[in-house]
Amino acid sequence: MSIYTGPVFDMARRQFQVIADHINIPADERDRLLYPKRAITVSCPIHRDDGSTAVFQGYRVQHHLTLGPTKGGTRFAASVDIGEVAALAVWMSWKCALVGLPYGGAKGGVTVDPHSLSRRELEALSRRYMQEMIPFVGPHTDVMAPDMGTNEQVMAWFMDTYSAYQGKTVTEIVTGKPVATGGTVGRREATGRGVVHLAMRAAKKIGLNPKGATAIVQGFGNVGAITAAELVARGVKIIGISDHTACLFDDGGLPMEAIFKHTATHGVLAGFSTQAAFDPAALLAQPCDILVPAALERVIDAAMAAKLRCRILAEGANGPTTPEADLVLEQRQDEIFVLPDILCNAGGVVVSYFEWVQDLQQFFWEETEVNSRLAQILDRAFEQMLARVTRERISHRTAAMAIGVEKVYAAKQMRGLFP
Ligand code: NAD
Repeated sequence: MSIYTGPVFDMARRQFQVIADHINIPADERDRLLYPKRAITVSCPIHRDDGSTAVFQGYRVQHHLTLGPTKGGTRFAASVDIGEVAALAVWMSWKCALVGLPYGGAKGGVTVDPHSLSRRELEALSRRYMQEMIPFVGPHTDVMAPDMGTNEQVMAWFMDTYSAYQGKTVTEIVTGKPVATGGTVGRREATGRGVVHLAMRAAKKIGLNPKGATAIVQGFGNVGAITAAELVARGVKIIGISDHTACLFDDGGLPMEAIFKHTATHGVLAGFSTQAAFDPAALLAQPCDILVPAALERVIDAAMAAKLRCRILAEGANGPTTPEADLVLEQRQDEIFVLPDILCNAGGVVVSYFEWVQDLQQFFWEETEVNSRLAQILDRAFEQMLARVTRERISHRTAAMAIGVEKVYAAKQMRGLFP
């Protein structure tokens, strides 16, 4: 009966059922919490460089409006469909509530391989997507941000397009913008910085010394590359990395300085020395202290969960672990400390919130303030999660999601159902 289908939404639905059972949400209240308030589908026509016209499908899903505007990234990827976007919007809701932000979750996307577009075509598609969304978004309605396949430049085009239609500059319509156009210092690094801040908290809990510890990072975009750099800065040895073009592994440690230099010029890992080339399918199962999936959903299924040989699983990506894998990881809770996605990668939306607040007030903060407030919020959520794990003897993911779902449910109950 629902338009929200596919394996990713199915995963969000099954996770929600576990939480709803755990916190005893009545059966007739569950659909109200799970199903998105609004879903917008648009066709985005653009002129290709060869003069032809191409049409791309775009989506925006706004999950709930109970706590304030909706907030969430925009993904440009070939895999994008309404079910995937809706699942990401639902996860954003639990994430924002967990860390105490006044937002509902949203997500958007365009079904396109961004690598297949020229820069001019990417700008045309970005502007057309935002233009199609203008009736449905706004600084107090729905605020966009980057996600896979989009970046600061795309956010600048979104902001410029929205502003042109309003007849004034409206920086607060998107976050993750360049600092020169109303962005905040520390946003570009925020997600990876948050991942590593929490990984260090987890390391302390399990008595792991980061100096000389080993890490594997899957995905080398905004989240993966910053995570790797922050780990290196703490003395962690990166032994494995991958992106969609290459996979490298060396248990003696990879030459990260040279790799960062290469990706700064070429954008991707391909073209770097093949000396450490490795099978991407086997990467996650290699022994390491800290494992960071920072690319795609559902890369850790039950079979992979049984094979993991890490001590900390820090989920930089959204939805990297399937519900079946969660059952395996629950059995391995003493061996593997899971930092669930809605906590682990929340640094991005926390600093996006800071950016929105700064834009609304036209009063900008120093980076030290951004970083210390970020750490404070993540520390509070981390401690709340662990307290609940201990009190209720549940998994880290169940605890984190229960806190988020409960807050949204309580707000809905207090506001009531109109009319
Ligand atoms: P990005 O587009 O900057 O980078 C994505 C990376 O994943 C690229 O390096 C790409 O090559 C790699 N990749 C794609 N397919 C792969 C494959 N099959 N194997 C290995 N690597 C592959 O995207 P991002 O912003 O870094 O987002 C990555 C993940 O983090 C997504 O799940 C996203 O939803 C999540 N996330 C991002 C943010 C943010 O602030 N950007 C915040 C929270 C969560």
